[in-house]
Amino acid sequence: MSDHAGIPVGSLRRGVRASRLPLAFLAPGLAVCVALAACIAPRGGWDVAALLEGEPALREKGAGRLGDLLPHPVLYAGALRLVACRFEGGETVRVRGGGAGWRADWAAAATDALDRGLAGITLALEPERAGGTPRVAGSGIVAAIAEIDVQVSPDPAGAGPSGLGDTLVVCDVGPRADGAGFRGRLLRAEIRMRRGGLDLVGRPREASAEEWVGGLLHELGHALGFAGHVASGDSVLVREAHRLRRFGRTALAGGAIRDATLEALYSIPAGRDLGGVALAPGSRRWVEGLERLRAERIGRGDRWLGARTTVGDEEARLVWLFEQGDALVLRFPRWRRDLAEGAGVEAHPEAATRRAIEGEAESERPASGAAGRGEVQSSIDASIERASAMRRSASSPSPRARSTTASRKSTTASSEPASAASSRCSRARTASRAGCL
Ligand SMILES: [Zn+2]
Repeated sequence: MSDHAGIPVGSLRRGVRASRLPLAFLAPGLAVCVALAACIAPRGGWDVAALLEGEPALREKGAGRLGDLLPHPVLYAGALRLVACRFEGGETVRVRGGGAGWRADWAAAATDALDRGLAGITLALEPERAGGTPRVAGSGIVAAIAEIDVQVSPDPAGAGPSGLGDTLVVCDVGPRADGAGFRGRLLRAEIRMRRGGLDLVGRPREASAEEWVGGLLHELGHALGFAGHVASGDSVLVREAHRLRRFGRTALAGGAIRDATLEALYSIPAGRDLGGVALAPGSRRWVEGLERLRAERIGRGDRWLGARTTVGDEEARLVWLFEQGDALVLRFPRWRRDLAEGAGVEAHPEAATRRAIEGEAESERPASGAAGRGEVQSSIDASIERASAMRRSASSPSPRARSTTASRKSTTASSEPASAASSRCSRARTASRAGCL
């Protein structure tokens, strides 16, 4: 999930840092969690029972906590559908890392542990290259983009995730070539990690190996397509720091990490339709406006190129791409809550899209040259940048509060009960990245 970047979508999120947690503090809550683990209802807001009914193989293997997955939004014939996004089966998902805080040995431990334990997909950490990540000269654009890009900052409190890490994934939810449903194929994911954080009194503290590897495993779980967090169970998608540290120890010891929830995700087809959901009454006009604009553009000779999505801890984003015209962006600001509550999903266009919908017919555009695909790509990246700026703005405390707030946030996972950490994550959570560690 995000928690981050490459295209408009986003989702990500946050950090964890580890440890020294008074275990006595956690013990009572843990006991309750264990007792209730089997009876916690799915939290994704879609019908996981119907999925199991339609996927006998999955029913036999078990779905883990797949019902906690936040699906991706797709508009089809004016209605909102929910789909699962993942990397294509059979392909090797390349993981590339960089940044001043990058630890290739730790990243290799995390990548290898997940790769050994997860059937249906191959994860491979790319070897480090001299000179760092290749970029197109002068553009700042990564030349050959790995499917999962990890950037690690040594700065415990500067720009970056609000905690130890966050993730942004971009999914292609355009129609399949054979017309049978949606692609649901992850294009890439961006993970942001810190090497450490601030302790309770604002002093920099580096994460231990097990903390950092546990945090990366969690973000890799988001990067593989699981948006949201599992409510319980033995999964890297939990939020509890002590469990993530345990996963980190397993990986550092060379063990494999079996995750039934991720396995379930990789047991269903990419783009699997998980059902439909109603739009909130006030949001239908925006969807209708979007459909109308698309029809108008196509009528003028433009071409619709498809759709991209990102889903974060709280909100989702859907982007329609055109060969000539600017991308159209629809936000679902209460995605998680609206799905859980089942009373209709709010959808709002971003500013430029809203102006286009509310305006009269868009001006005619030249059918060639600078208005081609490159411009569309730029607008997507700009959209991501806006999301990042929003995130920074939303999560940056005032200058006076920064040192203490940041330090507490960064030590959340290790020094507070899980419930408090979760609450803090909720307050700090930004829209478009996923993963509150
Ligand atoms: Zn997370």
